Parts: sequence; structure tokens; C-alpha cells
Amino acid sequence: MTTLTELHDWHRDLRAQFPIITGNPDRAYLDSAATSQKPRAVLDAVQRYLTTANANAGRGTYTWANATTALVDRTRTRVARFLGDPAPQQHSGVHFVSGTTEGLRTVARDWLPHHLRDGDEIIVPFADHQANALPWLEAQRLLAGQGVRITVRELPYDPASHDYDHRALAGLVTDRTAFVAATHVHHVYGGDMNVHRIRAAVGPDVPICLDAAQSVGHLPVDVGTLDVDFVVFSGHKAMALPGTGAVWARNTRGPVFTPGGWNGTPNTCGIAALEAALDWLDAAGPDRVRRWNTALAARLTDGLRTLDPYEVLGCRSSLAADSRVQQREGIVTFRHRGIGSNDLGFVLDSHGLMVRADGHCQARAGERESSVRVSLHVYNGPEEIDRLLSVLRGLR
Ligand code: PMP
Repeated sequence: MTTLTELHDWHRDLRAQFPIITGNPDRAYLDSAATSQKPRAVLDAVQRYLTTANANAGRGTYTWANATTALVDRTRTRVARFLGDPAPQQHSGVHFVSGTTEGLRTVARDWLPHHLRDGDEIIVPFADHQANALPWLEAQRLLAGQGVRITVRELPYDPASHDYDHRALAGLVTDRTAFVAATHVHHVYGGDMNVHRIRAAVGPDVPICLDAAQSVGHLPVDVGTLDVDFVVFSGHKAMALPGTGAVWARNTRGPVFTPGGWNGTPNTCGIAALEAALDWLDAAGPDRVRRWNTALAARLTDGLRTLDPYEVLGCRSSLAADSRVQQREGIVTFRHRGIGSNDLGFVLDSHGLMVRADGHCQARAGERESSVRVSLHVYNGPEEIDRLLSVLRGLR
């Protein structure tokens, strides 16, 4: 039985839990890599929090203030457990941020400068999201101003598979390599970047920071197996509210991560949403979520392969139906050879198909031309993929 048939009832029950989806049957939301829709359980948790316990956290000592402080502490542990941390808070810590961008910038601003020494080298990606390139360059500039010279090297890519070139990476590592930044799932090509091989390539001592914006909430993320030092993600892409996200820090390689500055009041109702979202995702089953999303993506690439005017970006060999190469993790990006991507985006919207059409915030080594990205989640179904393919087929 195919995954889409096997998980059909599971998907139908989950889809029914998204009011914005069921309330708009003529529209297909195909931009979950930008932000996810929210299930009723998350909306209810926010409503419940704001109508029963709303107060500030970490300040007052009355009932609602204590309940809010407990919510924030509990959700820290919840995040760590969701990421497979076997002993939350023994060394590790969770810091709430507004999303992956702020999380990566916080690591670059508040941790990296304490870790690096004059002459150190760091290895970072330049064809991933710019949020995973610019903060490291900012840190390099900041340190240069203090007389500390850091060399920034590009995390090598294999142009055929669009995966990192783990062998070339091993060749870049020297005794001055002090930090590696990587991405778990690519936000344009949709590939799992096999980050477990990075640890093997760089050895046991180099801290690794993982941009998990497109993996948390989409597939099981386990800090035990990945052996990375930071996991940074956006809660709003994982069913929680906008303005939520977290940095998980292992705190065993290099200095302890202690975000500085005066942060003031935390996003308490966002944290209530994040707690409910992680409960919801665990109940849905991250493994089934992954199987569903990759099966939908495969249906789309299978269809696009037969349509001559379209070029799918990323790994070519994983397009074949019998490919042994891994599938796209719910993200498929393509271009029409004759129609500009922005025009294509408008046309698709006029058919109720909401996709992303632009350069997708890729860093400097990314695509030069814009493209159309379709990104899926559990509320999307095969009929939406078929509808999209049928519109694409009809375009001249
Ligand atoms: N990294 C990746 C891989 C992303 O896909 C995104 C969002 N498109 C970000 C970082 C930035 O996330 P946010 O906008 O939530 O800060």
C-alpha cells in the first residue's frame, strides 16, 4: 500500500483540525516553509492561557504570575524533550526567540565571540538561507573590530546531489577549525542535508550549529543521533504562533550559551502555543508527518517530470520514481522555461493555489533567478497536488 493510501484516514483527521484550511475549501495553502497553519488545539491553548492565567513571567508571586512562570519553565523542558534531549537542563539549555533568524543571530552575537580565538576558522553555508550566513559574517566583522581575525570558509556542496560534500568538508578541517554551521533540511531544494555525516567529517570536538527551521515539526529531530551543539528553529513553522522559536544548546563543547542583554517580557502566549504545538506534533507522530510530506512531494515531482516546460531545482536523480536517493522533505521548487516565476505565482494564486515565488532568501551562492516553491504539511492532500499539476499542465 502506498503511503498516501495507508495514511489517508490519519491525514483526514488531522486536516479537519485546521479551521483556516476547512474554512477555505477553494484555497490550497502551499507555503508551509514560510509559516505553518495552526491546529485548533494551538488556538485553544492560546485562548485558554489568555482567559485563565495571563500575567508576566519570572516576576510576580501571585497565582497567575506563578502559572505563567511555570508555563515558560515547563515549555523549555518540553522543547528539549521534543528534540530528544535525554537529560534536559543537566548541561543543556533552551532559550526562546522569535524565530530561527533571531536564534542564529543570538548564537553568533552572544556565544561565538566568546568561543573563538585569533586565527580560528569557521565553516558556514553560503547556498542555504541567508539567516544561516549573515550572522556568522557579522560575528567575523565584530571580532575584526576587536583585533581578532577569523577565517570564514564555505561549507562545500556537491552540485549533483545538492547535499553537502562531506568528503570535501573533511579536507577543509584543520586544527584551527572551531565552528561549523549547517542546515538540516534545505529550504529551496527540500533535501535532508545528512548532517550526521558532518560530525564524522569534523571530528568529536568542533561545535556544530544546526538551522532546523525546515526540519523541526516536519521530521524527527534527535540531538542524540545528530550530535550537534545548537538546534535553532521557528515555532511558527511548527504549528505554533508567529514570534515563537527556540535555541537548544548542548553546552558541552565551548563556553556555556548565556544569551546577553535585557530581554524583558517573554512571548508568553507564543510559548503557550509552542507547548500545545509540540504536544500536537508528538501525537500526530513526526515519523508519519515526514512520510506524508515526502509522499506528497514525490507525487508532485513525479507529475512535474512529465511536463516538459518545467525544470525542478535540486537533486536530479531523486526525481525518478524508482530513485534510491532520498526524497524531498515536503519542499519542491521549480521554474517554467517560458513563464517568469513571479507571473506564475500570480496565475497560481488566481486558481486558489498559494505558492511562494521569489528568490527564497538564499544566501550569496544561491540561485540567481527566482523560482516557484511549493512547501507542504500534514493538512495538504493529494487532491491539492493534482489540482496544482492540472493548472500547471494547462499553462502555455
Ligand atoms: N532558515 C531556514 C532554513 C528557513 O527556511 C527560514 C525561513 N524561511 C529561516 C532560517 C528564517 O526563519 P524565521 O523567518 O522564522 O526567522
